[in-house]
Amino acid sequence: MVEIRGVHKSFGTLEVLRGIDLNVPVGEVTVILGPSGSGKSTLLRTINHLEKADSGWISVDGSLIGYRRSGDKLYELREREVLRQRTRIGFVFQNFNLFPHLTVLENIVEAPVSALKRPRKDAVAAARRLLSRVGLDDKADAYPKQLSGGQQQRVAIARALALEPRLLLFDEPTSALDPELVGEVLDVIKDLAHQGTTMIVVTHEIGFAREVADTVVFMDEGRVVEQGPPAAVLDAPRHERTKAFLSKVL
Ligand code: ADP
Ligand code: MG
Repeated sequence: MVEIRGVHKSFGTLEVLRGIDLNVPVGEVTVILGPSGSGKSTLLRTINHLEKADSGWISVDGSLIGYRRSGDKLYELREREVLRQRTRIGFVFQNFNLFPHLTVLENIVEAPVSALKRPRKDAVAAARRLLSRVGLDDKADAYPKQLSGGQQQRVAIARALALEPRLLLFDEPTSALDPELVGEVLDVIKDLAHQGTTMIVVTHEIGFAREVADTVVFMDEGRVVEQGPPAAVLDAPRHERTKAFLSKVL
């Protein structure tokens, strides 16, 4: 589904991604762990074309987006393809990012109607099904601020699903939640995983990684230090930096 080769990204003189290679197979769950500042969010944003890599390439769902040094024509020529890919990639943020002035239902309906040109009636019906899937049938007419953090994040997941994404990216989806609300959000993500949704999840929830991940990737200082099945990376890490990190979060 996603192939990443030799991706480099700097902000000014700070090299944030230092040659990332990663494969995410269709239907699998990849969990990315790593200390704060190691480049996890930047990697997700690069996959979703919210950031432009300086070099290397990323292919999503068979469509190659080439990168060369910045300013290269190759990228500009593929702007249309970038936009197409973005509507097929769902992104769930740490802070939910719901539209505060729209109801829950309107939050979910907005993108399918405006980006995918779905008839409103169909988008509303689909949104109601999605709300039921995340356990929020009764919240369609509420505004985000009337919901708990866990409920808001479940709406954000429903909103991402409304674009029928081929790939879902989660950037620390439970980090902003009170501890007692983490479980309800992880349960929704687990449910999606069991239905074969391809996803990349950045999280510090080691229990979730152990239970749900097909592959765990440990990143540090802009590089993939170690990757493999959860049992290997979490229980028998080979690198000192992975061991040090796990000893802090476990
Ligand atoms: P992580 O998600 O692993 O905590 P990030 O990808 O958010 O790491 O950030 C990696 C590094 O890049 C950090 O030092 C951060 O301050 C820096 N960084 C991220 N985005 C930007 C930006 N738009 N401009 C400048 N520096 C950035
Ligand atoms: Mg981050």
